[in-house]
Amino acid sequence: MTTGNRSLVTGFFEHNLGVQTIMALPKRRHSKTRQAKRRTHWKLTVPNIVECPRCHAPRLPHHVCTECGFYNGRLVIPKKERKGEKAER
Ligand SMILES: [Zn+2]
Repeated sequence: MTTGNRSLVTGFFEHNLGVQTIMALPKRRHSKTRQAKRRTHWKLTVPNIVECPRCHAPRLPHHVCTECGFYNGRLVIPKKERKGEKAER
């Protein structure tokens, strides 16, 4: 009955059924190298930001400009809609 990290549900069943459940534990410690190797994939990616050709505001490529609502030289999101969405949120 002295398991360290027990959920409330597990504790409930232990209490009622008298069953002891112990979570799986690692047999051996992982070396610092192994830890570092795993963490080599922990990295931030810088978003690719392009300039809107119409209003020169920064925007994501292949996305509608949030400032002017244009995409590929065409008005996709009218100004009223954009302002209404902002007011609601
Ligand atoms: Zn724009």
